[in-house]
Amino acid sequence: MKMLESRKDEMIQIRRHLHEYPELSFQEEKTAQYIESFYRGKDVEIQTKAGGGYGIIVTINGNKPGKTIGLRADFDALPIKEETGLPFQSKNDGVMHACGHDGHTAYLMVLADCLIELKDKLPGTIKIIHQPAEEKPPGGAKGMLESGLLGDLDGVFGIHLLPHAPSGVVSWRSGYSMAGMAHFHLHVQGTGGHGSSPHLANDAIVAGSYFVTALQTIVSRRLNPFDLGVITVGSFDGKGVSNVIRDSIELEGDVRYMTPEAQQLTYKELNRLVKGLEAMFDVKCRLTYTQGYPSLYNDPELTLLARESLEGMNDPDIIQVVESPPISGSEDFSYFSQAVPGVFLFAGCRPKNVEQVYSNHHPKFDIDEDSLLVAAKAMAQLVCAYFQINE
Ligand code: MN
Repeated sequence: MKMLESRKDEMIQIRRHLHEYPELSFQEEKTAQYIESFYRGKDVEIQTKAGGGYGIIVTINGNKPGKTIGLRADFDALPIKEETGLPFQSKNDGVMHACGHDGHTAYLMVLADCLIELKDKLPGTIKIIHQPAEEKPPGGAKGMLESGLLGDLDGVFGIHLLPHAPSGVVSWRSGYSMAGMAHFHLHVQGTGGHGSSPHLANDAIVAGSYFVTALQTIVSRRLNPFDLGVITVGSFDGKGVSNVIRDSIELEGDVRYMTPEAQQLTYKELNRLVKGLEAMFDVKCRLTYTQGYPSLYNDPELTLLARESLEGMNDPDIIQVVESPPISGSEDFSYFSQAVPGVFLFAGCRPKNVEQVYSNHHPKFDIDEDSLLVAAKAMAQLVCAYFQINE
């Protein structure tokens, strides 16, 4: 922990550099070069372009045989025009680190470097996973997993900075903790005609509108009220002219769910409503349902290990360890923790002395940089605890 404390400023410098030069998902060429050059010359194996994109895996081989764990941080930014006014504000117009991924990468690089220094004492192997493209499905995690380069992992850990709490608060949640997502597209084919003669046409707008209304009953009338589910129609292409009956419409929507049961239910009910729509309005429908990131599952045993080891830390930087509520946002870390037991923690990063706190993905989103050391310490603690029980 002392090593990390002495390098807090370095974490902040790295974070500021990344913040100044953000890159969009699947285009993180320079960021990847920057990360790679940090590790060049150090006593590690570096795998670049891991998984087709700009992913980097840095393998730290301990002196003794043992388990292999992955520590993951993402490094992509968002298509947002920054409005923070920070001295190190984004120099890439319209691109911004508005989700704290600059912070994730910064703390993990310094932590990795400390672990490299301590590698002779490591009873196992650590793979540092620098992951691109978290913000844009299909995401970077999937490709990195499919590359086979992470097939030997026994466990995987990650942390996300969130402004829900001040720096020093670390939160955990056992089991399902962040929602999975899916996307659907529906094409409804009716028959166009003159606005004055509906009996000679088949109005696609009316059929589509019934569909949007009926959809609302999936969550309200079909889903277990203790299960999380969201279905949002975000696009309804109904534009036309007042005296013409539209022959077809298209609509698109977003589905969020927490459990596989809720996912299967929404999928089944969507299909059923589409069949019903065809029968009810004599239209032809084409439904495309695309699975996005799965829901994020935290292994209960590992979560308990994280919780207990963090609670027992007695460290002035880790002020509070609390249970997190479920979160309806999605994260592609879920692919990693679907493949191997994993834990994804949250570290508070709410800026000090500000009137208004802006959420992740806001043009004024900012972090308290003290949270970088907190994240590094929490992750270091988890690594130690994991190796201790598995040695
Ligand atoms: Mn994020």
